[in-house]
Amino acid sequence: MSNAAPQKFEFQAEIKQLLDIVIHSLYTEKEIFIRELVSNASDALEKLRHTQLTEKDIFDDKLELEINVTTDDKANTLTIQDFGIGMSRAELVENLGTIAHSGSKAFLKALGEGGAKNSNLIGQFGVGFYSAFMVAKSVKVYAHSWRANEPGNVWTSDGSGSYELNESENDRRGAKIVIELKDDCGDFAQDWKVKEILERYSAFVSFPINLNGKRINTIQALWLRSRNEIKEEEYTEFYKFQSHAYDEPRLRLHFSADAPLAINALLFVPKENTEKLGLSRLEPAVSLFCRKVMIDAKPKDLLPEWLRFLKGVVDSEDLPLNISRETMQDKALIEKLNKVITKRFLKFLDEESRNRPDGYAEFYQEFGHFLKEGAALDFTHKEQLTKLLRFESSLTEKGKTTSLADYVTRMGSEQKEIYYLVGPNRASIESGPYLEGLKARNLEVLFCYESVDEYVMNNVREFDGKKLTAADHSDVKLADLPKPEGALSEDHTKTLITWLKDTLGARVAEVKASERLVDSPVLALNADKMMSPHMRRMMKAMNKEGADSPLRVNLEFNPRHAVIKRLFETHTANPERAKLVAEQLLDNALISAGLLDDTTTMIARLNKLLESV
Ligand code: ADP
Repeated sequence: MSNAAPQKFEFQAEIKQLLDIVIHSLYTEKEIFIRELVSNASDALEKLRHTQLTEKDIFDDKLELEINVTTDDKANTLTIQDFGIGMSRAELVENLGTIAHSGSKAFLKALGEGGAKNSNLIGQFGVGFYSAFMVAKSVKVYAHSWRANEPGNVWTSDGSGSYELNESENDRRGAKIVIELKDDCGDFAQDWKVKEILERYSAFVSFPINLNGKRINTIQALWLRSRNEIKEEEYTEFYKFQSHAYDEPRLRLHFSADAPLAINALLFVPKENTEKLGLSRLEPAVSLFCRKVMIDAKPKDLLPEWLRFLKGVVDSEDLPLNISRETMQDKALIEKLNKVITKRFLKFLDEESRNRPDGYAEFYQEFGHFLKEGAALDFTHKEQLTKLLRFESSLTEKGKTTSLADYVTRMGSEQKEIYYLVGPNRASIESGPYLEGLKARNLEVLFCYESVDEYVMNNVREFDGKKLTAADHSDVKLADLPKPEGALSEDHTKTLITWLKDTLGARVAEVKASERLVDSPVLALNADKMMSPHMRRMMKAMNKEGADSPLRVNLEFNPRHAVIKRLFETHTANPERAKLVAEQLLDNALISAGLLDDTTTMIARLNKLLESV
């Protein structure tokens, strides 16, 4: 017992500097000091467990390996006690009074290298213990080493420049940190407040944490266990706990990687897409951990935007433990994590789509929207995402889908483009005039039912070197079909074109005989190449400018159709009647394209036509 007398020590100059920064500017979220002290306690318990393997003579050997947190709102104190490895008097001086330990040393070194007062920098280093001084009037550390022949000691400081060491009696093994809180930090002496903080940051610490005698952490850090040891129910329970969810997970990816970063990740796709239900935009919900301790519950850049439906945990040992949310500036590291995880998840979806196509189809039904968003906007992952897209087509049954890759395998050698049509549903696309010409030429057409689809297709542009082409675009050129008998002659067709142009006036930009029509007499194509009929409908729905400009369309007619042949006869025999028919045909084409806004004139005209029947 050579050091029995109370002793007063000055902090090393560097520690003073450190304390000043920690107290005044390190973390804007004071509550993280609890996370730091609990992490230290957990480390100390881990070290004890290790020591137990080789050492027989351990002080207080019967103690549970646990962490006990107690609050006292009368005394305004918070106490964090662990039964870990503890510290001897010399270790207290070394660990808490000097800058010998790694984290703080590296921190100060970086400060010395010109980073002084750079708050982005400070968060990246381990200065855990000292964070207590953000909230403390004074801190007492009662410590007893695992070595039986060492006395217990208490280290006391108000963080201003010096600390005191005293021998203490009746200490248990380990460390007990008693924080006398500043007057405006009284919340941390409240059970509910501390409970909230422990649940947030320390829920998965391996050792039991008790708050005022009640166990806090009951769920294991499942992501660090090996996959084949984990039961399905455990995964579900973890998902519900971690994501605050009530549903069951739809898909799950549990993986680890060593290079380029050490990562353990457990990711879930929920059953339901709440964004689709019209609820607000999802927030990032894959939390970032470092060795079971939470760093950030909602890291913004950990995953690309379009993966915001994912839940779960990413744990990387390579993260500096003391990184704090608002100072998490290590962009390069986060970018690396982002890259590795996104790539792995895309691979997982690709495997799912091949190994469990039905499950994938259900997933796609619910979450396909996000994949489309990614395909359209995330240039880095566009190619992989485009492969994951699924559409109904003119060759699939209703409700069944195809990938673009499968579409390509069905293309004939002369087909150069991938065709698609956008419409509200299958029936409306099938009965519209745009499909029949492609159908007659055995060209498969993808059916797109969502309003974003046109935007997505425009951005994706091509797949496997083939252009994605809207089949209702006026540029689409189709191969000739053998001309059926009884079509209007070329001369008559020309005459009719001229007459239709005159008759319809400003309502049409161009009139021509069509190759693509088989069963319908006419079709309308938007004269404005940049705006498809569907786009125009969308702009109208959104009240966008341009949607109300006078509509001019290209009218194509089918010279083989009975109505057209009849029209040719009537246009000389009964010009007045023929004019009504021509106008009505144009309106019919506009209706099919979803472009007729006002039906009143149309109905008046139709009634007039009916009179003469
Ligand atoms: P870091 O944990 O990054 O090393 P800290 O300032 O939090 O930095 O702690 C400094 C040192 O004090 C630790 O490395 C450890 O050796 C010792 N220490 C802190 N808390 C405890 C504890 N509860 N039990 C035993 N040793 C501890």
